[in-house]
Amino acid sequence: MYNPKSTKAEEFICHEEVLDSLKFADEKKNDIEYVKSIVEKARLRKGLSHREASVLLACDNEEINNEIYELAAQIKKDFYGNRIVMFAPLYLSNYCVNGCVYCPYHYKNKHIARKKLTQEEVKNEVIALQDMGHKRLAIEAGEDPVNNPIEYIIECINTIYSIKHKNGAIRRVNVNIAATTVENYKKLHDAGIGTYILFQETYHKESYEKLHPTGPKHNYAYHTEAMDRAMQGGIDDVGLGVLFGLELYRYELAALLMHAEHLEAVYGVGPHTISVPRIKKADDIDPSAFDNSISDDIFAKICALIRIAVPYTGMIISTRESQEVRERVLKLGVSQISGASRTSVGGYTEEERPHDSEQFDVSDQRTLDEVVKWLMELGFIPSFCTACYREGRTGDRFMSLLKSGQIQNCCHPNALMTLKEFLEDYASEETKEIGEKLIRDELKNIPKDNVRKIAEDYLDNIHLGKRDFRF
Ligand code: SAM
Repeated sequence: MYNPKSTKAEEFICHEEVLDSLKFADEKKNDIEYVKSIVEKARLRKGLSHREASVLLACDNEEINNEIYELAAQIKKDFYGNRIVMFAPLYLSNYCVNGCVYCPYHYKNKHIARKKLTQEEVKNEVIALQDMGHKRLAIEAGEDPVNNPIEYIIECINTIYSIKHKNGAIRRVNVNIAATTVENYKKLHDAGIGTYILFQETYHKESYEKLHPTGPKHNYAYHTEAMDRAMQGGIDDVGLGVLFGLELYRYELAALLMHAEHLEAVYGVGPHTISVPRIKKADDIDPSAFDNSISDDIFAKICALIRIAVPYTGMIISTRESQEVRERVLKLGVSQISGASRTSVGGYTEEERPHDSEQFDVSDQRTLDEVVKWLMELGFIPSFCTACYREGRTGDRFMSLLKSGQIQNCCHPNALMTLKEFLEDYASEETKEIGEKLIRDELKNIPKDNVRKIAEDYLDNIHLGKRDFRF
């Protein structure tokens, strides 16, 4: 029944195969020789299968766990250097016809304020985001064919890309909207989106159907096969995710990796990103009502295992997590984080953080300047780079750049140049001082002399007021 090459949800996320993998993991978790051989395999940086990752997840040997953490940190360094890509979510509309039991936007919630941005409001939100220094957004919307049809989403994307306020620009719009048709994915692709992101929420079909009792999202196969349709529509950067807390985490990790294996098997390119959200308190949602919540330790281990199992896949962490948790997982493999997020519709133009239309409580409430400064103090380079997708380096072309090790000559200088733009245009004096020193030090780490010289020249030009250089 299990067939990663099938495009049928129940064959590529085969329930029996997940259960067999978990059984296999329980049988093998104390076989230290075998467990060590999996860690050795992961050192080759070619990834692990869902079965192998499941064994490591089940194993609670402290020495092995420490090896996993060290390896995850090393792979992170080798593949992504010390760059962390920055983004912000932009909520367009919280009208929704679905009945997701964990989400406050469910249609039965009558007391949450329903809002949908007009194009004028989109413009104002984007200006507020540009004024913080953001260059990359993830747009979010509830599912509502009447209020939020694809035409509305496309109109918003066009508006977002059109706004040039002072030196600001949104250069990449990722899209997190409900599963849709191939035709609509084509429209998103033609509108120039970056990644299409869709969280599976849970891969466990029976639970999925209970957690999505009504609305179009109830259809497990339609939701699970969305990435196939997105690929068929021409979008080759897709982002997976599980909402941890809904189902058993061991089930979810095995199935998530099966999903990645399926995309690789059928389209020759795995997911561009994986997100790791955990359920949070929200308007009429109490996270303690879900009994599969995971501890910070398990969460960290899941992040480390994703890093070593799919080394070429970016990993995203949002402001659902606290500063402390974010700091821990940044070292273990996270490559993108959001900063200064507001999860309400129209939240960025408000003086105070509004709560009436929020999707979930934000744990990390710092400003973008504070997050950037914090990252640099931890030794990371905050990057506002969007070059790969604008240069057509998406899908397998992006993956081959990563695999060829050319990242240090390309993404690294691009990160420094976009950080320089942030420092010139938006940073506080203190952040600027730390950032300028970091750029000087990091320039030395560009291996090719000619690339370093060009980067230095571009940096001088940015100081003189020019913008948007890239390799
Ligand atoms: N409506 C679209 C869909 O169905 O995929 C867009 C996604 S929604 C705006 C973004 C994500 O937020 C959801 O996929 C879900 O995983 C997550 N989410 C919903 N309720 C949440 C909660 N209470 N805490 C944390 N994350 C939540």
